Amino acid sequence: MNAVEVLQQVADQVAVCEKCELHHSRKHAVPGEGPPDADIMFIGEGPGFHENEQGRPFVGAAGRFLEELLATIEMTREQVFITNVVKCRPPGNRDPGSDELQACGDYLDRQIQTINPKVIVTLGRFSMQRYLPNAKISQVHGQAVRVKGRLIYPMFHPAAALHQPSLRSTLEADFAALPEVMNQAGETLDYDEPTSNEDKGDAQQLSMF
Ligand code: URA
Ligand code: SF4
Repeated sequence: MNAVEVLQQVADQVAVCEKCELHHSRKHAVPGEGPPDADIMFIGEGPGFHENEQGRPFVGAAGRFLEELLATIEMTREQVFITNVVKCRPPGNRDPGSDELQACGDYLDRQIQTINPKVIVTLGRFSMQRYLPNAKISQVHGQAVRVKGRLIYPMFHPAAALHQPSLRSTLEADFAALPEVMNQAGETLDYDEPTSNEDKGDAQQLSMF
């Protein structure tokens, strides 16, 4: 299967998935979207109200802010792959549970492996914790780290800045540095082993970028 086919297969599977209880409250699963060869992959938390209605990621207020942030580095959402750690909406936008993160993780792993992005931008703490389980987002945001060969760039979730306006400038600054992270990622990746399917991230292998 080529990359387009793998991503379609993942989307088809999540549409009917019943691996965790989030399927009960789902109207539309939200597999994620973007080019199969995107250099940047954004991983958020989970679908909210509007995403559940439309089956697309980041289409509500946080999504508009994400698009604004992308525009500051002269990018559009069509150029990046955008997805979430869970593909179905947690009721009332509650946090996803560890059993749900576990159940849904395989879909995300397959998306990452297929797209093989130069950098993964984690939005918020749930996607950060996949790679940096013990990190505090307030301490590590805006610092690219390599975890088992994969370049991870943690950021605050855009929704957090909507609730806490002081985070807006933090997110803007972290975005402003993203093009430089991308430049260096290209140079470094050539010398690194690709991440294998089994790699779930291991903080012991963490090295500051
Ligand atoms: N917040 C998320 O984490 N993901 C979305 O898709 C939308 C809002
Ligand atoms: Fe399946 Fe993920 Fe939806 Fe749970 S959240 S039902 S694991 S697709």
